[in-house]
Amino acid sequence: MRLDKLISHCGYGSRKEVKEILKKENVEVNGKRVKDGKFSVNESSDNVTLNGEVLEYQKYLYYMLHKPEGVISATEDNRHKTVLDLLTREDYREDLFPVGRLDKDTTGLLILTNDGKLSHNLLSPKKHVSKCYHALIEGVVTEEDVVRFKEGLIISGDEECLPGYLTIVSVDEEMKQSRIEVVISEGKYHQVKRMFEAVDKTVLTLHRHSMGGLVLDDSLARGSYRNVSMEELELLQ
Ligand code: URA
Repeated sequence: MRLDKLISHCGYGSRKEVKEILKKENVEVNGKRVKDGKFSVNESSDNVTLNGEVLEYQKYLYYMLHKPEGVISATEDNRHKTVLDLLTREDYREDLFPVGRLDKDTTGLLILTNDGKLSHNLLSPKKHVSKCYHALIEGVVTEEDVVRFKEGLIISGDEECLPGYLTIVSVDEEMKQSRIEVVISEGKYHQVKRMFEAVDKTVLTLHRHSMGGLVLDDSLARGSYRNVSMEELELLQ
């Protein structure tokens, strides 16, 4: 790996910023000062220091983000704020991406990583990783809807869904609104919204509570994130 890439991945800014660091600060590889960003280093065996401090290179990063409304699940966008814009400069790395997508107006659990294999496993239709959503629905959700979800709905575009497990949490008959929980094991485009459309109802708010056995940490405020431990990662699959 190039030295400038390693330094950047350790949280010291863009390659351009790292160029300045290399010029002005004391970067040493195995005890020898190096100023050239193109210099090749072995991230697992070379000892790289910045002003005497050892730079620890972490190959894979995993963050649990409480996605707020109004940001998009993309890595970059000219018009909208993306989930990567929520990371601090130290935590940002250009190879990070969100695992799957939540709509702009959906809140809740989103994993950010640079581990393509993990992402592939979680998103693979064959794996059927369950996702639990909490939602506020316009309309009175009924036991008949629960049965229809369980039987497998046909949603817009004639797409067939695997069984969805719908629980009615509360119904406000006066307001004609319902609070529900739904567990699905696929990730079709706008799936939950389209499932409710199929039973003539509208999703007003949608929040992802968990993926597999990994539940969103309720101490995370909207827009904040933390590292995911190895034990927690295992809960995902
Ligand atoms: N289903 C949706 O409709 N939207 C989401 O963001 C996630 C699941």
